[in-house]
Amino acid sequence: MNISVIGGGITGLVAAYLLSSQGKKIDLYESAHFLGGQASTVKLGGFRIERGYHHLFKNDYFIRKLLSDLGLHKSLSWYKSSVGTFTQGKLFPFSSPSDLLKFYPLSLSNRIKLGLISIFLQNKKRWEDYENISANEWIKQYAGLKIYETVWKPLLEMKFGEFYEQVGMPWFWSKMKTRFASRDLLGNEILGYLDNSFEELITTLKDRIEGMGGKIHLNSKVIKINQENGSITSIIVENLHKKNKIKTDLIINTAPSYELLKMVSFDKNYTAKLKAAQYLGASVFILLLKNKLSPYYWVNVTDKEIPFLGLIEHTNLVDKNLYGDNHIVYITNYASYKDPIFKEKEEVLLNRYLLHLKKINPSFKPEWVKDYVYNAVSAAQPIIPINYSEKKPSIVSPIKNLYIGNTTQIYPEDRGTNYSVKIAGEIVSLITEKGEHNEK
Ligand SMILES: Cc1cc2nc3c(=O)[nH]c(=O)nc-3n(C[C@H](O)[C@H](O)[C@H](O)COP(=O)(O)OP(=O)(O)OC[C@H]3O[C@@H](n4cnc5c(N)ncnc54)[C@H](O)[C@@H]3O)c2cc1C
Repeated sequence: MNISVIGGGITGLVAAYLLSSQGKKIDLYESAHFLGGQASTVKLGGFRIERGYHHLFKNDYFIRKLLSDLGLHKSLSWYKSSVGTFTQGKLFPFSSPSDLLKFYPLSLSNRIKLGLISIFLQNKKRWEDYENISANEWIKQYAGLKIYETVWKPLLEMKFGEFYEQVGMPWFWSKMKTRFASRDLLGNEILGYLDNSFEELITTLKDRIEGMGGKIHLNSKVIKINQENGSITSIIVENLHKKNKIKTDLIINTAPSYELLKMVSFDKNYTAKLKAAQYLGASVFILLLKNKLSPYYWVNVTDKEIPFLGLIEHTNLVDKNLYGDNHIVYITNYASYKDPIFKEKEEVLLNRYLLHLKKINPSFKPEWVKDYVYNAVSAAQPIIPINYSEKKPSIVSPIKNLYIGNTTQIYPEDRGTNYSVKIAGEIVSLITEKGEHNEK
């Protein structure tokens, strides 16, 4: 049986690795010239770093198990994280319960209420109770307008841009659970990072797949999935402007849903499911700086005057010695991929952002920037609406022998590499159980 995997991000690589381990013949097609998708890395100042900031949580069991199976668990180190919030022209610490108690933009009674609501959500077991309410509505109703406007609305906006009102409450519930599950006994958030970046995982998966006879094709975009009588037959792959028809028995698609819909048509019901969650794009600069920008790993920027949503200072989590004593800072923005920022010249965008870094650190000077990389991702974040369990596309598609695994199927958790590993495992179990026959 010839199995084609579309997409060489974490989902595609892990699915290809697991199937290769079972002796299956795999061909993986990746449209980019590199593997890893959203978790891929670039070189900045001679150092490997993720195109988008990446950390792991303590309860990311699926990826931690994979790292152990691959013998990479020793490469995963744990660090104390720190969070700040830039609001009303000032940078506030926002890491611990005591920071919350000192957060003067809220009254003392509202600070206590915010703490109690956080504890309530951490202990709430059934996310299903929240299926039919948006995060926005629930927070307004239970926390009140002041807490919503001051703390959570800006955070929802940071993550979902203009679509923040559409996000279902299960997403918010799971986010609170994950972040609190990754705390130590003193309440400090503990985050994991791979010593040699995600590149070590990506390269290990690639080597294992190829070592077991699998083939990886870069610069290879799948543009069409052919089917006959409701069963897939072949794919058309575009490689450096040449189109090749390749016969295949089974396909795992890990490309975003809108890409899949360009390759093949489904019935009305499944098409609606593939369109149920829209995607946000991410616009990310990685700066190599001479000096430290802020005291925090993660800064939520909720000040309306500033044209970006977050600053992630990687070297405030991981030691700067690993990067030749340089400081690595991500400037991040999420927006619809149709937003004009994705059409702007990167130097123009960067210069606009740099003007505002002085507000975060008054001694910042543009000369601090020794080097930078810009990265725009189109399917960075699915926007998961209310009542999503009935809208979520199933892994087993209505077309025989076509399986789907992408970030729109991660629910109620937020998308992340841990859940990409989980979905890859689920796809492989289904294929193993059903053999070639995936009819429901
Ligand atoms: C800015 C940012 C920060 C993040 N931070 C974290 C974090 O801290 N921790 C964490 O765990 N996760 C984080 N994530 C999320 C995580 O990276 C993703 O959830 C995960 O990598 C998704 O993997 P995937 O394989 O499902 O999708 P992708 O990585 O999107 O892979 C899909 C692949 O398919 C390819 N493709 C698309 N169309 C075609 C086609 N027609 N033919 C062939 N190939 C095609 C794409 O090029 C891509 O490589 C972050 C994501 C972003 C954008």
